[in-house]
Amino acid sequence: MAKKLQNNKRIFLVTGGAGFIGSHLCERMINEGNKVVCFDNLSTGRFENVSPLKNNPNFIFVKGDANKIKDIEPVFKEFKLDGVFHYAAVVGVKRTIENPLAVLQDIEGIKNILELSVKYGKPKIVFSSSSEVYGEPKELPEKEDGCVNPLTPYAVVKLAGEKFLESYWQKYGLKTCALRFFNVYGPRQESSDYGFVVGIFIKQVLGGKRPTVFGDGSQTRDFVYVKDNVEASIRAMQSESANGQVINVGTGRPLTIYDLANSVILCSGKKDLKPELAKTKRIDVKHRFPEIGKLLKLLKFHPNTPINDGLRETIDYYKNGNV
Ligand code: UDP
Repeated sequence: MAKKLQNNKRIFLVTGGAGFIGSHLCERMINEGNKVVCFDNLSTGRFENVSPLKNNPNFIFVKGDANKIKDIEPVFKEFKLDGVFHYAAVVGVKRTIENPLAVLQDIEGIKNILELSVKYGKPKIVFSSSSEVYGEPKELPEKEDGCVNPLTPYAVVKLAGEKFLESYWQKYGLKTCALRFFNVYGPRQESSDYGFVVGIFIKQVLGGKRPTVFGDGSQTRDFVYVKDNVEASIRAMQSESANGQVINVGTGRPLTIYDLANSVILCSGKKDLKPELAKTKRIDVKHRFPEIGKLLKLLKFHPNTPINDGLRETIDYYKNGNV
């Protein structure tokens, strides 16, 4: 941590800052004139995601594990943080199911961030929760104060995180906000088998292969372009009315996976390909889409990047050799 940052700017910590969402957030926060400490253990995050920022005087990269107090406490000690985006986590359906104990370790990270925030000047915390907490939904659209039904260790940890944030807000007046992210997509998302459907489909289609749609493809998700997700995150950090709240971040418009596959084909200009229906052993949630009244009211924001625009930008990224 030898590099010193310029004075008189607001300073934010982004854990998981070299990951897919975290790296876009770092970039946007820097562009808005803030200082950013990007903290990442580079297990799934990649330094290349933030390498364009590396010579920026307002950017500092710290390699470390948010789940280890010895790694993360020095950051709180050295920098007088104005806010923390706690986005470091084990992610991806396949990876989280294969590594339940690693997922459980992320509870330590949540504990560290909360305790250190209370100890060092009470920066506000924005936490990346997940639509996974709804599991197989009891009602649609899914509402923040409605039923949750977490089915996986990942979802249980995210829900625990939300509840702990809320209790620190109540007990210590620590400003917190948990965002339930629906399916985020965009450049830099992992496209391997351990990744997510948009990257996987794009990789298949650009390679001349048919996108493998699991089941009959009638399952639905709500796809949020990463830049919209980042906008919601920044608004959550700024908004006083978001303190102590849990907020869905989605478009409110569900899309079937079959239609997604066709959109990827269309936007890639590979019109002769057709989606391929594939069997999977994976236990999949059938439908998932949010009620977004709180997002509109508290953050005054509606994610509205049209799916084909977001897909085209994402395809361009992968076309540039970034698979
Ligand atoms: N999916 C698919 N083919 C793939 C990967 C995923 O049809 O190669 C489907 C999956 O069954 C799910 C949706 O795409 O219904 C979203 O999957 P992802 O792993 O991206 O996120 P999830 O919403 O399941 O957490």
